[in-house]
Amino acid sequence: MDQTIQITICPSCNSDKIRKVRKDWIGNFQNQTYTVPSLEFHECPSCGEKVYDRFAMRKIEANSPAFNEQMTERGLGYPMMTGLEQDSV
Ligand SMILES: [Zn+2]
Repeated sequence: MDQTIQITICPSCNSDKIRKVRKDWIGNFQNQTYTVPSLEFHECPSCGEKVYDRFAMRKIEANSPAFNEQMTERGLGYPMMTGLEQDSV
């Protein structure tokens, strides 16, 4: 079974020029950029529309700061909150 999405028409401008590309993908989350190396997705040269299948989405998620937030959050900590707590004691 082939589960890859076949995209031949751009969902945005109906161009048939849309095709699968493989390139480093640069995303942006809360003003910080991150790169997903060698990501495969469909790109329309006419309007710039990008279409991602489930594999691409998963790869983006794995590289996204949003996805890793729970891990980085612990490292950053909340010095302001702990400071307040100490002052009030
Ligand atoms: Zn298009």
